[in-house]
Amino acid sequence: MNIDIVKPAEPPARRPTWDEYFLKLAMLASERATCPRMHCGCVLVRDRYVLSTGYNGSLPGTPHCTTHGCLVVNNHCVRTNHAEINAICQATRHGITLTGGTAYVTNMPCTHCAKALIAAGIVRVVIFSDYHDTLAERFFQEAGVELERHHIPDLTIHYDLAKYSSAVAAARRPCADSPEPSPPAER
Ligand SMILES: [Zn+2]
Ligand SMILES: [Zn+2]
Repeated sequence: MNIDIVKPAEPPARRPTWDEYFLKLAMLASERATCPRMHCGCVLVRDRYVLSTGYNGSLPGTPHCTTHGCLVVNNHCVRTNHAEINAICQATRHGITLTGGTAYVTNMPCTHCAKALIAAGIVRVVIFSDYHDTLAERFFQEAGVELERHHIPDLTIHYDLAKYSSAVAAARRPCADSPEPSPPAER
């Protein structure tokens, strides 16, 4: 067996920090949102371990805003649960405690979500954009929850397809939920 240490030809790309990484995951979760008025994502983390994720969407088995329209009360769509509530609810379904965790959210939580995060035991909240009309900061301060505003993470997912031959092959394979059939893989 021949073992070598092969150094990379180019300097490695800058790795995202942990906070950037989890904020990007929250942005990714927001892609699943079903209310066209706002897309939010939330990732609940402890010790760099993802406990739960959520996005603003309808209750399980009920109609989506995208197909049935928004149910607007006092200028707020009430058809969906917010991302933070859905993340907390998903954790409860799987018996996961959130005590001591960090919430990464794409925007400042609304008053109700802020209260739920505090009550669930979240001790730190990281966001990159604000939300109008919320008492979140006040409740976080009163409860001793740390609030951090970060700059918006890089919007691109850097996956250099051309560099990894296995990924190129996977991209050519037909996928079960592809919108259109992919061309057959070359041999
Ligand atoms: Zn809606
Ligand atoms: Zn909310």
